[in-house]
Parts: sequence; C-alpha cells; structure tokens
Amino acid sequence: MKNAYIKKVFKQVKETCPNETQFLNAVREVLESLEPVYDANPELEKYAYLERICEPQRVVEFQVAWKDDEGNIQVNRGYRVQQNNAVGPFKGGLRFNKTVNLSILKSLAFEQTFKNALTGCPMGGGKGGSNFDPHGKSPAEIERFCHAFMKQLYPYIGSKTDVPAGDLGVGGTEIGYLLDEYLKHRKDIGTLTGKPLDKGGLKGRTEATGFGLCYFTEEMLNDHKKSFKGKKVIISGSGNVSTYACKKATELGATVIGMSDTHGYIIDKKGIDYKKIIKAKENRASIENYLKYSDSTVYAENPTDLFKTKCDICLPCATQNEINLDTAKILVKNGCYCVAEGANLPTTLDAIAYFQENKVLFGPAKAANAGGVGCSYFEMCQNAEGSKWTFNKTDKKLKEMMVNIYHNIKDAAIRYGHPENFVMGANIHGFETVIAKMK
Ligand code: NDP
Repeated sequence: MKNAYIKKVFKQVKETCPNETQFLNAVREVLESLEPVYDANPELEKYAYLERICEPQRVVEFQVAWKDDEGNIQVNRGYRVQQNNAVGPFKGGLRFNKTVNLSILKSLAFEQTFKNALTGCPMGGGKGGSNFDPHGKSPAEIERFCHAFMKQLYPYIGSKTDVPAGDLGVGGTEIGYLLDEYLKHRKDIGTLTGKPLDKGGLKGRTEATGFGLCYFTEEMLNDHKKSFKGKKVIISGSGNVSTYACKKATELGATVIGMSDTHGYIIDKKGIDYKKIIKAKENRASIENYLKYSDSTVYAENPTDLFKTKCDICLPCATQNEINLDTAKILVKNGCYCVAEGANLPTTLDAIAYFQENKVLFGPAKAANAGGVGCSYFEMCQNAEGSKWTFNKTDKKLKEMMVNIYHNIKDAAIRYGHPENFVMGANIHGFETVIAKMK
C-alpha cells in the first residue's frame, strides 16, 4: 500500500476490528486495487467513501435456540450484516456452517457490495448466517433450526430493505422453511430469493452461479483465443455451484476430471457426470458414493489434493481459502492457465498474486460468481411482476450479464493502466458503481 489516504483508511479499519482477519484481508484486497483511482482522483477523499463502505451500516447478532431430536435445547448464534445499501436493498446469502463468525460474514458482505454492483442490478450488499452445522443433523432438526433462526431475523428484513438468499448449507429446502416462518409474520414473498419453484422461485436460479461462472470463464478464455472445448477441468466441491459448473463446462466441450467434498475427492479421466454427482451427494453423503455409479472413477481422502491433478482450467467452488500459495504453485507447475472462482474468497491473496505473476487468467469471485445474485434479482423482478419467467429467458439474460461483467472489469483495468488484472478491474468497476449512487 503506497497511497497515504488508503493507508490511513486501512489503519482505521485495523484499529476498529483488529481480530477480524478475513474481513481485513477482504478490505486490504479492495483498497490496494483502488490506489490508482485515488492517485488519479485525490478529490474523492473528502467524501469519505472508503470509510463509509468499510463500516457495515448495521450488524444484527442474535441467539437461536432450537430443539434437537432428543428434545434437548441447543443454542447457536445468528447474524445479519447489512453492509451498504447505496445501490439497492441489502442483498446476500445466509450461510449455515460451523466456521461462521462475524469476521467471515463481514468479509463476505463487503465483497457482496461490489459483486452486486457489478451485475448492473439495483442491489446493495449484505450477508448472514449461523455457526449451526447441518452435517449430521436430521431433516427435522434442520427444519426446526430454520424456523427458530427466522423467528429472530424477520424484523430486520423485507423485499424493499434486505433480501437474503441461500449460501453454504442453505439450499432451496432451507429457504422454503425460512420462508414458511417469515410468512407467518409478514406477507412479503419477495423477501427471500432462491425459493423453491412452487413458492415463488425462479426457473434457472439453481443453475445460475455455476452456469454464470462458466459463461464468464468462456468469455475470458475466448477473449484470449482459448475456450473450454477439449480442456481438462477440475472443480472443487460437489454442491450447488460445483455441480452446475460441471454441467455447463461439459456442455461447452470440456472434460471435468476431478471434483471434491469435505471428505475427499474423485478423479475420472473420462469425465464426471453431474447427474451422478447429484445422486451420490443425496443427504450430504460422501462423494465416495460416486464410485457406485462409475467404474472409471477413483476416490482419495484429503480434498485439497484435488489441486495436485494436472489440468488446464481450475474452478474452485467449495469454500474460502482453498487455494494457498503452495497450491497455486502446484497448479501453475502442472500447466493450469485459467482459474475462475465459483466460491467466495477461495484463493488467498499471495496465491492470487502468484497466478497473476505467472500470467494465469484469473477470474475473481466477485465477478465470476455474480450470476447467482444476478438471477436472484431476476427472481425479485418476477415476484414484483407476479409473473413466471421461463428457464430460457433467465439463462439468456444470465449469459448477457456475465459477458458484460467480463468486459466492464476488463475495461476498468485497462483505464487504470493494469490490463489483464481482473481483480483490480472488478474492484474498480464495482467501486465506481457504488460511489456513483452514494453521491
Ligand atoms: P453447497 O453447500 O451446496 O456446497 C458446498 C460444497 O463444497 C459441498 O460439496 C461441500 O462438501 C464442499 N466443501 C465445503 N468445504 C470444503 C472443503 N474444505 N474442501 C472440499 N470441499 C468442501 O454450497 P454452494 O455450492 O452453494 O456454495 C459454494 C461456494 O460458492 C461458497 O463459497 C458460496 O459462498 C459460494 N457462492 C454460492 C452461490 C450460490 O448461488 N449457491 C452464489 C455465489 C457464491 P460437503 O458436501 O461434504 O459438505
């Protein structure tokens, strides 16, 4: 960091939340990208945009007490971080995962503010969730938890103020339970997105993040005279984003040779079939189950070893900090020339720098996985219109959005003298969109 104003802002953020490592990393990445903007436009300092963007507008923390199957009362902590609503209502997913804490959610809400701005849709940034771990919980326990969680959260959200969606551990089923509870208190169906189709959901939302990731990546590859066709791809995770990234990458002509989960990873040189992944992963079972459906597949424990597989393209789609510097070095050594993030913050800052130094095409999450939230906005439109969009309408608009995002971030990077730095381009274009509204 060289710019004196940017340094001052980062120092303030560090002093305010010294122990929030993930949040500080997310802030640092964005602030470093914005140095050329402040070097060229020092008059922006007087508006204190950065001070305001870095401080969440509101954070709600609450107790969630629920009954397990034995009748015992369990207690978890719930959160909603409402980061910035200059562009539109706060918008961002709910995450149920044992790793959830305030620092992670603040980092994700901060990222979400820029990501949502990149979509070109009127949405601000937010994020929420709980340290509730759905692994090993019965369907009835998950349902009771969702109801207890929403009983606490409902006063703070609404279709015009804050619109949560799913994230890790929160899929269509959980959103359905959360909506059932919400509707007991307020009749406002547009308050949640990622809803099941029979509860106001959008056709194509389930596929949107994985498909959008591949549309973005294909555009970035095409722009460099490359494509998915005939390429070997590895995708971490085997949940919502990974599964539909597998489907679309395969449709675009790639062979997806490796996927993973929290238990381990599978390799199949003939190509992984997304339909078999869905079957294998029913009830959050281990990906090892895939072996039941395929003779050409091998399974191994330790999911991070997936990244040691020789591939052309890598799509990290599981969780944060999956790819560190050592992993990045292995990927580059093995010939991987394109990494696009389906998950949020899956690559550490030093690993990103290493990819960029080694001319790997790197698509940052806030651009590459923005298709999910973009389609959430389409779901909000559908609910407000009282209409039903077709799958093809959603998919066509998703593709247009992802192609636009790629070119907007590419142009922003070029304007500030850092062509090919799509991390910088995404942060700058997102920032420009947010401050245009804050003004
Ligand atoms: P899911 O819960 O559907 O799937 C997550 C997958 O990742 C599961 O297969 C899980 O394994 C696996 N996983 C989790 N941790 C690890 C790990 N340490 N190593 C290997 N695999 C792991 O979540 P989503 O697919 O919805 O979300 C994935 C990521 O994408 C998250 O970072 C999320 O924030 C981001 N994202 C999601 C969007 C969406 O629309 N869903 C939108 C934008 C971003 P297991 O099954 O064993 O738990």
